[in-house]
Amino acid sequence: MSIQGTQYSSQDLFIKDSEVEQRNNIIKSILLYKVDLTLQKGTDYYGTVEIHLDLHNNNQNSDHPIQIDFGGLKVEFVKIRNLNEYGAEFRNITFSFERNRVMIDYQEFVQDLKESNNKISILISFQNQYNTTVQDRGIFSTITGENQYLHTQGEVASMHYIFPCIEQINFRAPFQLSLVHPSDWVVISNSCIIEQQSLNKVTSFSKFETTQPFPCYLYGIFAGNYVVYRDKYKEKIDLNIYCRKEKAKIIENQISELFCITKFGLNLMEEYTQIDYYMKKLDQIFCDNYNFYGMENPGCISLEGRFKFEIYFLFYSQIIKEKRYIFEEEREPLKIMRRSYIMFHEIAHMWFGDFVSLEWWNNLFLKEGFATFFGYKAVSKYYSQFDYGIHIELQKVLILIDENKDKSIFFQCLKLLLRVFKNCIKVITLSHEKLPYYEYSCYKAHNCISYNKGGMFFQFLEQKVYGEQKFQELIRQFLTENSFSKVDETSFLKHFNDIYSQKYLFKNHLSYFDDYQFKDLINLGLVEENYKSLDLSFIVVSKITKNIITAKYEDLSKYPSTDNIILLNTSENHLIFNRIKQEDLKFLDENNIIEKFNLQQRMTIWNTILFENIQFQKLEYFNDFFLQNFQYENNMVVLHYILRVYPLFSKQFTDKQEDKIINLYQEEKDLQKKRIILKNLIRYINSEKNTFNLLQIYEGQERKVKPKYLNKLKLKIKKIYEVSIQKISNLENKQ
Ligand SMILES: [Zn+2]
Repeated sequence: MSIQGTQYSSQDLFIKDSEVEQRNNIIKSILLYKVDLTLQKGTDYYGTVEIHLDLHNNNQNSDHPIQIDFGGLKVEFVKIRNLNEYGAEFRNITFSFERNRVMIDYQEFVQDLKESNNKISILISFQNQYNTTVQDRGIFSTITGENQYLHTQGEVASMHYIFPCIEQINFRAPFQLSLVHPSDWVVISNSCIIEQQSLNKVTSFSKFETTQPFPCYLYGIFAGNYVVYRDKYKEKIDLNIYCRKEKAKIIENQISELFCITKFGLNLMEEYTQIDYYMKKLDQIFCDNYNFYGMENPGCISLEGRFKFEIYFLFYSQIIKEKRYIFEEEREPLKIMRRSYIMFHEIAHMWFGDFVSLEWWNNLFLKEGFATFFGYKAVSKYYSQFDYGIHIELQKVLILIDENKDKSIFFQCLKLLLRVFKNCIKVITLSHEKLPYYEYSCYKAHNCISYNKGGMFFQFLEQKVYGEQKFQELIRQFLTENSFSKVDETSFLKHFNDIYSQKYLFKNHLSYFDDYQFKDLINLGLVEENYKSLDLSFIVVSKITKNIITAKYEDLSKYPSTDNIILLNTSENHLIFNRIKQEDLKFLDENNIIEKFNLQQRMTIWNTILFENIQFQKLEYFNDFFLQNFQYENNMVVLHYILRVYPLFSKQFTDKQEDKIINLYQEEKDLQKKRIILKNLIRYINSEKNTFNLLQIYEGQERKVKPKYLNKLKLKIKKIYEVSIQKISNLENKQ
């Protein structure tokens, strides 16, 4: 028998919370996924999955069916057998398959269940096709000339688009995979290949070792004409890096660096957690057409090779988004570090995310915050001379955007206009009540709050609450105690038993320091005593002597605000922002204080004006201040970051301000600085005169300007032309 799936709306197809609940009542645990796939060249694949289940024994009279999720094409048959009865054979049962659900009547196998023996195996045979359009729907296939490449992406709930499974993070199960595949394809999964043979001239069979138990969204399957580079970690762990054949020449000169980063990350995590890497190998696969930075499949991390999102409008094409981690040319320090950060982030997940996983998605920040925190930590250690930690501090302003989404007028209007957006704009705090499962699949929770604020939260606990040593000890215990198991906010709070975790975890928004006082955007419930116990530091600029010193909270009373500018040092690992008065900013500007500021002090200023712009008021004066002072920023990573981020939140630049920034570019002597300014100029320029000026500058470049910048510029020029033509025709009409 075979049943064909029907098309429904995506929300209707998605697993419902009530169904999750129901399954939790029936299934005690999943003992194994045994998956056999035949991967063919072209468009189709097929296979069987055997799911071993241990059921609760209070369901004997249940009339709820057992639901298996499957977003594929066809189900050929469903069979079951009792697992404890030695030699018991599979027998056919009736089932239904619609709306991505394979439903089996509970009474179909109740006869197999005994009091003390509730273990059954369900065998499902199915057919499916590769996906070529939607990023996280099944086995994604791309073809380049003769070569074909397959990759998968399981998070949040995409494994059931690959094979029938129980798509829930709260079940951990071992994965046993076998593949029949074209002989010229490389096949990769979480574990090592333990058996491989040719079936005929063109087809091979590969069997992978059974993995430790993981939630099924962490299973990874990759196949195709990938090329491989090999190395070893501590002489026992195989390290493999895969990329497309077409990319081999490009990646070759980066490969030793990539292995170096990998070993550094593994070693740091092993030393920090005192838990050895628990897989026999670590593969990293650069996938093209992959719209994720990376995915932490244990033993086979996927990384983005190249992703290009382009829209076409008549004869004009605009590249909206283009990212690649296989660098085709020399890149700026920010890009190089960003790539290493992603690699470190995914490696950190091997310990938290995989080795220890989540009970449910509402605690996403636990794994993402942890991996973000460690990604940053590793980058700062790896590139010690660059002080990446400071650049990370700048990123915390991004949290504000997500936290204020529901408050902004733009989103309020959008909400009114588009009823479909009704539920889309929602502030999701670090830890929250469960949302409908569907909302996690829309990546709404994968935002700057889970990642950046989550990361800052861990950093805050380390730097301000516990200190490095005690924090490391707590993390080590937390991971060890929960090895190959699940955690949630209750277990976290039991372990990290401090007032800051309690408060920051469950409330929206950050607190800020304004005119000698701590204020909360929404009352966080922290009192002055709480702040006193944190190791906060302040920058004090004397308005009389113009000296700059640092002070502790308890010493601030020595510095009256009439004679001093007090800035909370916001680039020191905490979750509190600083506000600044315009007259204080003017004082710093007019007295060239920024010139004397060290990196941390400059960072505080950049953070402060960005915070002010996002949260409070966009004053034109901020633009002047920014233009006047960004030339003093000599850390390339920070310069790159502020030039990229600042205009997103500022008032539009006036013509005069535009002239100024073009001048600054022309007068700059440092070539790298010049290049970073040039790349970002397009974001600042809107006037007719300067848009043409910029085109001239681009044309005069020895280094070719990337198409993405040229395209943006062309679009602006096109708009200017259209406006001019409109003006002329209006004029003609009048005459
Ligand atoms: Zn992550």
